[in-house]
Amino acid sequence: MTALAQRQQRAATGAAAQAGAEDERLRAAFAPVREWVFDLDNTLYCASRRLFDQIDKRMGEYLVRLFRVDIATAKYIQKDYFRRYGTTLRGLIVNGEIADPDDFLAFVHDIDYSAIAPDPALDDALTRLEGRKWVFTNGSLAHAEAVLERLGVSAHIDEIFDVKAAGYVPKPHPQAFDAFLAHTGIAPARAAMFEDIARNLAEPHARGMTTVLVAHPDNADAGHACGCAHAHGNRHGGEGEMHPHDDANGEHIHFRTTELTGFLRRLTVAQQASSSDTTTHTGEKERA
Ligand SMILES: [Mg+2]
Repeated sequence: MTALAQRQQRAATGAAAQAGAEDERLRAAFAPVREWVFDLDNTLYCASRRLFDQIDKRMGEYLVRLFRVDIATAKYIQKDYFRRYGTTLRGLIVNGEIADPDDFLAFVHDIDYSAIAPDPALDDALTRLEGRKWVFTNGSLAHAEAVLERLGVSAHIDEIFDVKAAGYVPKPHPQAFDAFLAHTGIAPARAAMFEDIARNLAEPHARGMTTVLVAHPDNADAGHACGCAHAHGNRHGGEGEMHPHDDANGEHIHFRTTELTGFLRRLTVAQQASSSDTTTHTGEKERA
């Protein structure tokens, strides 16, 4: 064997060992999970669909009408509220600027859903997950139903918990998670949460859930999720430090992926490999 071939073989062996260790980590982390909690926008569908861009644009238009300002000012307020209050809607409520939250939700979700196509691969991945599946969204129930219908995965979801069900207190606020857990009766240690916004995983992590950040490069919020230090510095009077929970590499994130379906597929393959190991080696208990 040539020196080059030996190096290639060593590299391949090293990569296989690394992949094996990662699969083992996946198996161990998800072994107790029977409650699968999914954020909706930019998580259950890919950010490259640009659906949330439409909602983002509608929020700007709503603020133009509400405050009678130009679009640049409206966008500034929108992003400022998103950072400070969790969502634009929460900022409007806290500041007493809106009488009817449902009017806002209906307006911003009046969008074209044709960008979302049926997703048989996601349908298949969800089929393979054992346990209950939930959608926990800062959007409205009607919006979540429309997206799930377009994706063709409605039948998998046991229940949608929307921002109205949370008393209009959105993620990442602890009260939103209190409401969600009280309503569903989920034991956090048996639950995994999938999200595209890093800070929304801080509470799930603190409560003992397994956390997965779904961060696609096309996600406009990814900048917020992984590097908003400058934005904080500019908008919040010199707070130059990025909040640790906005950090996509923060300790509150157990796993990160650019795409949900591929992650779920890898997980179920790792789990199946593990169970066939256990069957093959009779009498030998699963190491994890
Ligand atoms: Mg989202």
